[in-house]
Amino acid sequence: MLFDPKPKERKEDLFDREEELAELISSITKYPITLLLGIRRTGKSSIIKVSLNEIDAIGIYIDVRKAMKGGRVSEERLKLQLLGNIRRLRINIPGIKLEPTPLDMTDIFDLLNSYGRKRRKIIVLAFDEAQYFRFYGSRGGEDFLLAVAYSYDNHEWIRFLFSGSEVGLLHDFLGFDDSKAPLFGRIYNEITLEPFPRDLSIEFLREGFREVNLNVPQEHIEVAVDELDGVPGWLVEYGYHYVHTRDHREALERTLQNALSLIRSELSELERRSERYVAILKAISLGINRWSKIKEYVEAKHGSITNARFSALLKNLEKMSWIRAELKDGRKVYRIVDPVVERVIRS
Ligand code: ADP
Ligand code: MG
Repeated sequence: MLFDPKPKERKEDLFDREEELAELISSITKYPITLLLGIRRTGKSSIIKVSLNEIDAIGIYIDVRKAMKGGRVSEERLKLQLLGNIRRLRINIPGIKLEPTPLDMTDIFDLLNSYGRKRRKIIVLAFDEAQYFRFYGSRGGEDFLLAVAYSYDNHEWIRFLFSGSEVGLLHDFLGFDDSKAPLFGRIYNEITLEPFPRDLSIEFLREGFREVNLNVPQEHIEVAVDELDGVPGWLVEYGYHYVHTRDHREALERTLQNALSLIRSELSELERRSERYVAILKAISLGINRWSKIKEYVEAKHGSITNARFSALLKNLEKMSWIRAELKDGRKVYRIVDPVVERVIRS
């Protein structure tokens, strides 16, 4: 069912995304570390789950939130989840009781790697909602990354996949641009999941309504896509409310309310990192879309800033999929990716 609000797990339930799925599977196979990015509700969790079911490898999916306890990621709970999978795979660890485990994270990676080597199967460790790793240990997740770096250097059968909300993931946890971060300089591949283009979004809603035998006027579908753009999660939510209320306005209203509040909380996350981020988004939403003009706007609000620092901020926003750079009449201009974000910022 397309309008099922949970992440999809089976390929049959995933609409389109053939190419992205193939790309993700190939990346997981080739690279020790893959980073799956994309704005909220574009279908990252879904495509991870489906890829783990499709790939010729042993996939272990871990939602980092499940290892949280009292606002922190508990190392014990994380290890238990990994060990649960070890048990499921019937990996023998002679003479060692699993609970409470004397094994540390690197021991567990060692075990998984030798299991993979024996079976000649790649082991994929997929960590979703990985931004929460910043609440692991006393150094913002660095201890976990050291274990990952150890595995990267020593384990040819293990692959890592990280995904989740981008602000926290890229800024606070991975620190790929930070030369002091444990993974600095190691090769990884980044994949960004984009929202659907307009025609596919329309097809998505049509298909979803067809599945539940509901005849919906084309006009409703088009208005919904105009308002919500191609973010699959919002389309699902609109479809879901529509099916239950049979009321286009109501369905759209509820979906927008949810989208707005989610985006507001992400914006405040962003603002905590730098208020200049929000000023940049504001400038672009006002139609100020060239590098130098945006910089002027930001400086007028928050004081002067070096070119390098300003470029870094723009780059980060691009990496986190808030904005995209494109060429217009031979000039580089920036635009905001999600129209709902634009609406929040202008309000
Ligand atoms: P993310 O992890 O990026 O926030 P999810 O995988 O949770 O996104 O997807 C958000 C919602 O959209 C879920 O209801 C999911 O079922 C739906 N969804 C996402 N992509 C697709 C797709 N390609 N086909 C069908 N449903 C999808
Ligand atoms: Mg998700």
